[in-house]
Amino acid sequence: AGVREKIKLPVFCTGRINDPVMAEKVLASGQADMIGMCRALICDPYLPKKALEGRMEDIRYCIACNQGCIGRIGMNKSLGCVQNPAVGREKEWGEGTLKQAGMKKRVTIVGGGPAGMWAAKMADRRGHSVTLIDRGENLGGQVITAMKGVGRDEFGVIIRNEKSQIDKSDVTVKLGQEATVEQIVADKADVVIVATGSIPKKHAVGGADGPAIYNVVQVLNGEAELGENVCLIDYDGHQRATATAEFIANQGKKVDMITSSLFICAELGPTQDLYSSRQRLLQKGVTFTPDIAVMEVGGERGAKTVKGFNVYSNVWNEWGPYDSLVLAMGQQVDDDLYMSLKGKVKELYRIGDCVSPRKVDMAIWEGHKLGREI
Ligand SMILES: Cc1cc2nc3c(=O)[nH]c(=O)nc-3n(C[C@H](O)[C@H](O)[C@H](O)COP(=O)(O)OP(=O)(O)OC[C@H]3O[C@@H](n4cnc5c(N)ncnc54)[C@H](O)[C@@H]3O)c2cc1C
Ligand code: SF4
Repeated sequence: AGVREKIKLPVFCTGRINDPVMAEKVLASGQADMIGMCRALICDPYLPKKALEGRMEDIRYCIACNQGCIGRIGMNKSLGCVQNPAVGREKEWGEGTLKQAGMKKRVTIVGGGPAGMWAAKMADRRGHSVTLIDRGENLGGQVITAMKGVGRDEFGVIIRNEKSQIDKSDVTVKLGQEATVEQIVADKADVVIVATGSIPKKHAVGGADGPAIYNVVQVLNGEAELGENVCLIDYDGHQRATATAEFIANQGKKVDMITSSLFICAELGPTQDLYSSRQRLLQKGVTFTPDIAVMEVGGERGAKTVKGFNVYSNVWNEWGPYDSLVLAMGQQVDDDLYMSLKGKVKELYRIGDCVSPRKVDMAIWEGHKLGREI
């Protein structure tokens, strides 16, 4: 408002305004003459139109993750958006390109994470009869856990955006239901899509099945009995590890992070989270040990140890004792259902993390693509 009082030129306000309500507030309070949106319109180019029509629940709100837009450009890739697979493919996948299915099919989708939700939405829009099954109490898959990390609550908006579309559709959602091979085969759907996601690696390192060793999902879901002195082994370099380390540090616990990378938060440069994440972690007393290949974890609860060697000097070392260890050492596919269904149903597909554990952008991309094709 101060700027506007001082100059006669129109004042634009930009930066992190992703919501027409927020934009309207800025204008109504006289702080600016016009609002500029960038990422919000990459994520949903039809935001202004939807706002004009009062279709607020149809807006796909940008989550400021920077992964698909700024992050991809930073890696010399084409512009994208984790939530909008049509970015850069408007001619092929943009508004008005979705064709009704030639034949209405009965489609069963197992897994209500981002991949399954997108496949369900797209298949429904093309006129198929879709059932979406998840064993959890809510749709969202791993995103429900991811959003519990420090500063990651907005990540959950991905699911809120999609859920409003599923709620408006004819998709039958079955929650709290474990899909079994017998049940899926007996159901005789025309198409079965497996989107069962991924889980933390069960045998990430020697000794990983010992006491007081947890994965990030257990920690974020409050299922870990951590002591006061914790070591987090970070082979992720992204939010999975760093937001969990901060989650533990926020409980007043001492956290040491050990990574095989050159530095902690190695994957957060492109999204511009590197500086702020490292700063917050260091300010909370978290220590960083880079360049370490961890080969073994061991010891009893309260006396846990980590053994490994420096990948450059090859010098072995041992860290500890720790009360407990947290492993962020990779994911493994949850593809048992897919493998067991092979050859037993008419048309079978798999999408998302159960093909290969990756990130939410690929889960959404594959769900979108398959929903258009079946
Ligand atoms: C802590 C954490 C942080 C993350 N941070 C990021 C990030 O910053 N950026 C990013 O892009 N990605 C991040 N991810 C990864 C991202 O969440 C996943 O890549 C994405 O959710 C994969 O989507 P999906 O639909 O393939 O599978 P999932 O999200 O794993 O969903 C699979 C669903 O299938 C259900 N299911 C499995 N088997 C059955 C069955 N037999 N019957 C019924 N239901 C079943 C499960 O309950 C689950 O809901 C993070 C993940 C975690 C855990
Ligand atoms: S990638 Fe993330 S920050 Fe970029 S436009 Fe899409 S939702 Fe917004």
